[in-house]
Amino acid sequence: MKKRILITERFAQDSLSFLQQTPGFEVLRSKIPGTIDPALLVTSHALLIRSQTLITDKLLEQAKNLQLIITSTSGFDHIDLAAAAKWGITVMHTPTAHIESAAQLTWGLVLACSSRIFEASKMVKAGLWDRNQLIGFELAGQNYGIIGLGRIGTRVAQMAQTFGMTVAAYDPYQDEEVFAQHKVARLSYEEILRTSDVISFHVPQTPETKYMLRRSQFEFIRRGTILVNTSRGMVIHEADLCEALEQGWIRSAGLDVFEKEPLPRTSKLLNYPQVLLTPHIGANTEEAFHKASQAAANKCVRFFGDGTTSETLPPKASWYGAPAPFAPLHDPSNG
Ligand code: NAD
Repeated sequence: MKKRILITERFAQDSLSFLQQTPGFEVLRSKIPGTIDPALLVTSHALLIRSQTLITDKLLEQAKNLQLIITSTSGFDHIDLAAAAKWGITVMHTPTAHIESAAQLTWGLVLACSSRIFEASKMVKAGLWDRNQLIGFELAGQNYGIIGLGRIGTRVAQMAQTFGMTVAAYDPYQDEEVFAQHKVARLSYEEILRTSDVISFHVPQTPETKYMLRRSQFEFIRRGTILVNTSRGMVIHEADLCEALEQGWIRSAGLDVFEKEPLPRTSKLLNYPQVLLTPHIGANTEEAFHKASQAAANKCVRFFGDGTTSETLPPKASWYGAPAPFAPLHDPSNG
């Protein structure tokens, strides 16, 4: 019997053709992206999704033949992983496909903030030419602090080194060899916040990383630092960030992710000239889209071929319950 693969959202044409031409597969597509027709769901053996498709316990209960879900994304907040485990369904994602794009956007935000590119462009378009208002900040010789030295964090570290920066990272779950291999100093979270001229976040969203940066840390964060977040919005407490901006505790911020997305029109973040905002576009490149589609197609073929799995979800169990090595993370109001 053919394996029925239901693709619920956009998928690169080359990878679609590859699946369609693979013997033993029948490929189906959702008519409305992000939705799943119950009749197709019941007969599907695999779902190939992106972040618009919500996978709930209720949905999986109806998916009597489902063995596999692959999301062509890094993030997996749209999938009830506990329910998938309960129903014995394997889940994989394609995080490797997005490394380059997310690291590139992170650096785009760092450069835009340090050279004040977005403020400069706004000024020129407004017919002004007041260069004295736009004094930048040279990166070479400064300290770059990375929170989460995983796939994207290590690529961002390489880029920082190319700019002549000294790089340190906080990641309690990363192996010593990774720090050594990338020539990144291992520091505590507090040391990174106290000493870095640029800080960027590359952690997953877990109970431990929720509001990892809040008032208690902003109080001692290095004055004049540039802050960048391309990981998950819940990592930074936005109201506390607004206070830090108003107090002048940080120089500027580049944010691609938010507590609530789309960012509400009432958000105070929209008011600060020194804050650069992008609408969660860290993985939005043609290349990442193609790499993610092909990775999903390959994983699907291998899974039904010889049972091989890779980049399965959930990731490391230790992220979700290990004791935090830095006390403020255990702030009781930290949800
Ligand atoms: P990854 O799993 O390779 O790396 C995450 C790292 O964070 C790991 O090394 C892990 O040990 C570390 N970590 C976990 N808990 C931590 C904690 N409490 N404190 C410090 N470090 C901790 O993930 P990745 O592929 O590098 O992605 C990083 C983040 O970027 C994820 O949240 C992902 O969803 C996000 N992302 C966003 C976009 C975007 O569009 N903006 C695109 C791709 C990825």
